[in-house]
Amino acid sequence: MARGKRGEKLALRGGPRAVTIDSAEQWKRPIEEEKKIVCELIEQGALSGSGVGLPKEFEEEFRQFIGCEYCLTVDHGSTALASAFYAVGVGPGDEVITPAVGYLGSYCGALHLGARPVFCDIDPKTLLMDPEDVERRITKRTRAINPIHMNGRVCNMDALLDIGRRYGIPIVEDAAHAHGAEWEGKKIGNLGDIACFSLQGVTPGGKPVAGGEGGIVTTNNREFYERQLIYCHLHREGILEELTNPAYRDLDSEVLGLKWRAHPLALAIAKVALRSLEYRNQRRLENQGKIFAALRELPGLEPVHFYPKAKPAGFYGGLKVIYHPEELGGLPAGKFVEAVRAEGAPISGPGIGHLEHLRTIFTRGFDLWGRGRGPLGGEFCGLPPFKRYKKGDFPVAEGLANRVLTLPAYIEPKEGFLEQYVEAFRKVVANYKSLL
Ligand SMILES: *Cc1c(COP(=O)(O)O)cnc(C)c1O
Repeated sequence: MARGKRGEKLALRGGPRAVTIDSAEQWKRPIEEEKKIVCELIEQGALSGSGVGLPKEFEEEFRQFIGCEYCLTVDHGSTALASAFYAVGVGPGDEVITPAVGYLGSYCGALHLGARPVFCDIDPKTLLMDPEDVERRITKRTRAINPIHMNGRVCNMDALLDIGRRYGIPIVEDAAHAHGAEWEGKKIGNLGDIACFSLQGVTPGGKPVAGGEGGIVTTNNREFYERQLIYCHLHREGILEELTNPAYRDLDSEVLGLKWRAHPLALAIAKVALRSLEYRNQRRLENQGKIFAALRELPGLEPVHFYPKAKPAGFYGGLKVIYHPEELGGLPAGKFVEAVRAEGAPISGPGIGHLEHLRTIFTRGFDLWGRGRGPLGGEFCGLPPFKRYKKGDFPVAEGLANRVLTLPAYIEPKEGFLEQYVEAFRKVVANYKSLL
């Protein structure tokens, strides 16, 4: 068959579609296994509690999977991050560096502890936190660095850990999308100071290990683990025996009172999802490789880059491709997406996700606690007055905002689908002139 030949009529112009296979993803989540484990807990009445039963089993299983020392489950990925910021000692008047292409839920726990989010730009090839820009933004108030392994792509951990060591600043990783991802053969969650995972959504579209709602924190630092316990695991079974720090040992089992424990039913569903994680990661990685290898041959399309030591996993949010309109006669990204979709190939965008610094609370400031108090207003606990962010502050992130395409991360695509899928791109690229 002629491939991506010029002169073919694009589907958008009334020609035949390149993709004739619909509903390509065949992998199904094991609903019967989920029902079974959930019903068992219902029958046992094991619907609450932490430090015992299924929640404890799940923590141990995930800890072994990551290979780290300590693992704690909580009720959301965002509370995992909030408790991690508490664990490393973030408080009023501190600063936390987080990427401009990021997520409010990643750093808002620090904000509510009274710290100011300080945004940094992204690397134009990997679309991840740029370590050089992180270093430029460090001040004497910087208390944490918050890399996000977006869509399961791993940040430059050598550079970030080096910065953390040189300045004595903890790295609080957002691994909400990156269950099973690796850096130089080591799992994310067993590398930095503390890492946070989300269990939000439903497999396979939700977070890579999904249980509806839930979160996990992993660390190799005993003090960080104990600070998490006292912060948010009220009435955890055996909590007083677990605490070794003399400053915490004399607390009672209500510790500091917050109850951010995970729901056992959510962890039960996550336990089932964890069983298939490595299979799904492996298949998605292989299928990403096939799609990216084909797209790399085409003008206008630059599959996102990975650091050489990184092994991506999870793939939440799909595969990213950087679009270069100048290589296709200036064809707007939106028009390109429309044409590929018309060929029957699922693709979305253009868009890079949120530009965090352009949220209203950062372009105007916000009186967080009323009466002019908080980190986004005037002088506060040693912070200088908040300087409003504006368009143009992050040229790399903003320049890419409307040039990133999102492709599905397939696990078990139907036979022949991937060939048709990449053919849709070849066809549109070969015939882009008919769209100008
Ligand atoms: C989902 C997500 C979180 C928070 O997880 P929740 O479980 O939804 O609270 C944090 N960071 C990123 C990047 C996420 O996508």
